[in-house]
Amino acid sequence: MTAFRTLDQADVKGQRVLVRVDLNVPMENGRITDATRIERVLPTIREIADKGGRVILLAHFGRPKGRDPKESLKPVAEAVASHLGKPVAFADDCIGEAASQAVNALKDGDVLLLENTRFHAGEEKNDPAFVQELAKLGDLYVNDAFSAAHRAHASTEGLARALPGYAGRSMQAELDALTKGLEAPKRPVVAIVGGAKVSTKIDLLENLVAKVDALVIGGGMANTFVHAAGLGVGKSLAEKDLAATAMRIIEKARDANCAIILPVDGVCAYEFKAGAVNHTYGIDAIPEDQMILDVGSQSIERIQAAINDAATVVWNGPLGAFEIAPFDQGTVAAARHAAQRTREGKLVSVAGGGDTVAALNHAGVADSFTYVSTAGGAFLEWLEGKSLPGVEALRA
Ligand code: AMP
Repeated sequence: MTAFRTLDQADVKGQRVLVRVDLNVPMENGRITDATRIERVLPTIREIADKGGRVILLAHFGRPKGRDPKESLKPVAEAVASHLGKPVAFADDCIGEAASQAVNALKDGDVLLLENTRFHAGEEKNDPAFVQELAKLGDLYVNDAFSAAHRAHASTEGLARALPGYAGRSMQAELDALTKGLEAPKRPVVAIVGGAKVSTKIDLLENLVAKVDALVIGGGMANTFVHAAGLGVGKSLAEKDLAATAMRIIEKARDANCAIILPVDGVCAYEFKAGAVNHTYGIDAIPEDQMILDVGSQSIERIQAAINDAATVVWNGPLGAFEIAPFDQGTVAAARHAAQRTREGKLVSVAGGGDTVAALNHAGVADSFTYVSTAGGAFLEWLEGKSLPGVEALRA
């Protein structure tokens, strides 16, 4: 049972339904290079249209300062239509005359996309007057854009307060996964956190140690912890000025009974380069003139053992420099192990944020995880324990 209002509670027939979606697709020379975000919102659009609702899509695109034809959603409307297999009308403004005429022309089951909400400054300011202009166009509001839910903008937060608001299917799937991952997880919960730096993930680490049973630290950020423990890290990426922060996180973990699992060995090379000559050293014997680019085989064994002990794994960040072979091996081995345990029904695995999706795709296992969030910033803020305004506004 989710604690959020969903489409199950919405009676959309004959209603004008304002649906906030994420259509901020990557585009090169007017062509969409990855349609994942479009694919993700199709079930919600189809369901509302099939139930006889009038679908009015709201989205932002890029970061325009005012109206800018280069950041028009018009080409995206055509792409949505072709993925949906039915026409999608387009209005070249999201409020005012152009928008209301297009909305008035809709029949039950029709779909309309309104122009980029960020063409108006009121969007990012969550300006009540702009919210009212948008609200006039609809009877109900559905938010299917988890990836924009960390922002309190007019179309992500204000509207949910102005109209009866519901989570769309993609938002619902994300909230269900996040609840299973950290809010009401099956224990033990193991978090795996990697990536380049501690400095970008201090809030995240502090929140996790208070919530999970064990925290695996890998990637460049592990070097900061290794240095803080008084060991040499050679030429490795390490934020030596954050030694005190690392120690504070370790103390918090101790107080919260959270085990910290750090690498016991590292794959080292003289240079950050694909195919660089490399050797594995114990973590207390890292050569001064080399850098750690991946976790070593004994560390991988420990990480796999931690995954075996877990009922739930939450993962953010690669365990090594996964973009350059062979320093992808630790990340790939751990990801494949978590995927295998998930396929066997022994593990709930939730991953997301930044490079994590790319790393799991590289390991070929993104489809085997219970849930992989592509939401970036919103997923990270959730891992940091922050409340997301767009989500809070949908609480039942
Ligand atoms: P983040 O965006 O913080 O998750 O960091 C991801 C980046 O961390 C990737 O580009 C990895 O190549 C990098 N990374 C992971 N481990 C290491 C390492 N041991 N040394 C240098 N970079 C690393």
